[in-house]
Amino acid sequence: MLYEINEKALKLESEGKKVIKLNIGDPDLKTPPEIVEAAYDAMKKGKTKYSSAYGEKSLREKLGSIHKVYTENVVITPGSKFGIFSVMYLLLKDGGNVVIPAPYWTAYALTAKTLGAEARLVKTELDSNWKIDLETLEGLIDKDTRMIILNNPKNPTSNIIDPKVLDGIVRIADDRGIPILSDEVYADISFAKTKSILEYGGEHILVTGFSKTFTMTGWRIGYVVADTGLVEKLVKLNQITISNVPVFIQDAALKALELGSEIKEKIRQKYRERAKLACEVLSNSKLEFSEPSAPFYIFPRRRGLDSEKFALNLLDEGVAVAPGTAFGDYREHFRISLTASRDDLKIALNKICEAVE
Ligand code: PMP
Repeated sequence: MLYEINEKALKLESEGKKVIKLNIGDPDLKTPPEIVEAAYDAMKKGKTKYSSAYGEKSLREKLGSIHKVYTENVVITPGSKFGIFSVMYLLLKDGGNVVIPAPYWTAYALTAKTLGAEARLVKTELDSNWKIDLETLEGLIDKDTRMIILNNPKNPTSNIIDPKVLDGIVRIADDRGIPILSDEVYADISFAKTKSILEYGGEHILVTGFSKTFTMTGWRIGYVVADTGLVEKLVKLNQITISNVPVFIQDAALKALELGSEIKEKIRQKYRERAKLACEVLSNSKLEFSEPSAPFYIFPRRRGLDSEKFALNLLDEGVAVAPGTAFGDYREHFRISLTASRDDLKIALNKICEAVE
């Protein structure tokens, strides 16, 4: 349904209709010009050839110093999505199951399904502020559990895993000898501080990238931080699939890291303003929601709503949102991405409020 909505939105646009697209997490902001320049400079210098499947040493070293790990623990991937796919492939290709809190980012469940693995969901609810129940999570683990996937901060709720709950999940994972794959793509521009999985040590795996932090979605660059055994396997997978992320893109990513906090702060501020606006407008409607602690999403609920029908009807009003069913069993919810200009966002939010009356 997520993809159907997107296709319909694109079709309406091609027919000349204006659609405010709040259905996917692709920022309307531009990649900062210094980053674009860095890629261009690298291309002019001839950095347009095949290169290492590990990623460029300079970039891996920089990431190693940021995350306080060795360069050997870092592998560059074409987006965090491919990093997630690769880790899931390696851990689940021989079967087994994966434990995932819901609502979840759609790709985790689809990837598990593609690999023939079972996704075991820990349902969380708005009414308990999306708290993950440790007993429920532990109850889903058995001898065939190969990994737990966490997303912190979380798409689609933009909430943060309570540090004590995270401690509890890590304790369970360590006791049972199960690695956690922690997808932290929103952590660097989160409004509230999050605890990274790397703070716990052990065999846990961090996946993140540049798409959200630096508005670089189309560049396709991310990375995995893991023990060297897994890094070597990921490199082999890179070798037989993508070969390497283009070097000029890695140079641009290095530039992004050098500019780091200045860019991040601007982007964070922008989303904070949008989140504030959205909360103000939506609180005057019949929607219930938790205030976002991170970009880019709000995941409101309207009792009795069929969000698939709702999303399709709303498209006819020129606003695209994602139905809650794309993130698990959440038919009464829908996801709004705060990825449009303030003016467009205001128009869209008002139309949403009218539509839920
Ligand atoms: N993880 C989550 C939770 C996401 O929401 C997204 C993008 N929507 C990704 C990963 C993929 O990001 P990338 O562009 O780095 O592949």
